[in-house]
Amino acid sequence: MKKKELDRFRKLLNEERNVIIDHLRELEGASVKQLDLGGGDSVDLASLEISQSSIQKLGNREKKLLNKIDYALKKIDDGDYGVCEKCGEDINPARLEARPVTQYCIDCKTELETNERRYSDSEEDDDDSSWGEGEKFDDGGS
Ligand SMILES: [Zn+2]
Repeated sequence: MKKKELDRFRKLLNEERNVIIDHLRELEGASVKQLDLGGGDSVDLASLEISQSSIQKLGNREKKLLNKIDYALKKIDDGDYGVCEKCGEDINPARLEARPVTQYCIDCKTELETNERRYSDSEEDDDDSSWGEGEKFDDGGS
């Protein structure tokens, strides 16, 4: 990949990184505020707990994405960015554009997802769907 393209992805990733960090700070602020409400009998403890856990869940999801962004940035530095980690082929630029944190080409990703679904029910990991909104990536003709 050309340096100019790498710089562009680096910028994209850094921007996304800042957005997430800001948002995580907001989330932390929100949970502290809610904790301050504690004690009053007008507080519905059950819903408080639910919102606490959903904040946490959201936070975890974003932290995971943050890790992926850091990882992608490291790969840019190492010169490995844009190459599928499984088969070593170049990742389609349009796919990178849509999901700059992606580690695999569309073929490998599809294969991995198929295996995950077959062997596990957990919504654990590798959802780079958190980047876009879980849309199926169209690799240009199938
Ligand atoms: Zn691949």
